[in-house]
Amino acid sequence: MFETIEAQALKQTASTELRAEFLQREFERLKPFSLLIYAVSIFMWLLFDLIVSFLGGQGFTWRSVVFLASFALLTVILAFTRKVSHFDVLTLLLVLGLTVGVRMVVDGLAPASHSLWLVLAAASMLYSVSVLPLRRWAFFAVQVVIWVILNPFLDTTTQITELRGVLTACYSVFLCALTVYTFVKFREAKLNNYLMSRLLLDQAYNDPLTQIPNRRSFMTHAHQRLQASPREQDHYLMMIDIDNFKKVNDTYGHDIGDEVLIRVAADIKAVMVTFVYARLGGEEFAIYLAGVRREDVERLATELCRLVREQPARHPVTISIGIARVNDGDSLNQALVKADAALYESKHTGKDRFTFQ
Ligand code: GH3
Ligand code: MG
Ligand code: MG
Repeated sequence: MFETIEAQALKQTASTELRAEFLQREFERLKPFSLLIYAVSIFMWLLFDLIVSFLGGQGFTWRSVVFLASFALLTVILAFTRKVSHFDVLTLLLVLGLTVGVRMVVDGLAPASHSLWLVLAAASMLYSVSVLPLRRWAFFAVQVVIWVILNPFLDTTTQITELRGVLTACYSVFLCALTVYTFVKFREAKLNNYLMSRLLLDQAYNDPLTQIPNRRSFMTHAHQRLQASPREQDHYLMMIDIDNFKKVNDTYGHDIGDEVLIRVAADIKAVMVTFVYARLGGEEFAIYLAGVRREDVERLATELCRLVREQPARHPVTISIGIARVNDGDSLNQALVKADAALYESKHTGKDRFTFQ
């Protein structure tokens, strides 16, 4: 069962919008972690800069202060960043600053150890960025920046033809391939998980026949609206039931009955799109209307009854509606019971109408 659903989810190719949505969600979830990575990277750079400045006798200059201030500024900007596209640019700028800063710190060490420290710095930075919620282009741009600025053969005493150089080159290629592969594979696995949870949530909260939200979704969202405070205007709950629906099924068959359900659900959606609506089960629907006046509710109920009644269809139907005002302190179940009583009233006074409880 689980494998079937998984296979179905993974068969879908993720559209560009879905990928963008995934990355945005991923960024929102990992923003505190990204801030931590920024802070730790800056701290590590500062630590090495201080060691080289004081133990190495270079002195702590105004340049270190400028670097530190720029890194701090980027971290503060990240704290206020909402969009993943801005995060990509910020990270690229941070990596650019850090790599230049690392290069200057390494220049303060003995020349023979330069290439070794550059590769160590590249490894740490590549690991850090490979776990950040970057988009693909940004990750590859970061790779380029790191390998250009921290190139262990650029401006060092290491020659690619000597033993030290060959070892350094092999390790660098391995490092680059490993981080690219890990980044791409993890991203793919996370995207697949995201697609699967979306599919499962979609199935759990939507009615497969009418493609509108189901009872579970209604109870969750209506409960949220009910709890919201302060209430600026009144809240109402509508229960809707198709009239003589059994007759439709008995006369024309279950398939036509299903068609009618789909049509009525579409009418409900058309009129109530800004409210919380759902198919509760069978031929019963419910709507939670928050922040409305009684006149608005009357107008909407009249409009919905008219739309269903006058729908040009081969199998016309009508609906009955029961409406309850949700008082302060009412639970959702209490409001549903009241709306149901009002619906009963509509059924017993001729159907194709609405009644306030
Ligand atoms: P009333 O006007 O008093 O509401 O009469 P009614 O015939 O609509 O009421 P009743 O509750 O007796 O009938 C509901 C019918 O809805 C019974 C059931 O077979 C049918 N039904 C429930 N779910 C579905 C469904 O998913 N598809 C179809 N086609 N019929 C369904
Ligand atoms: Mg019914
Ligand atoms: Mg009915």
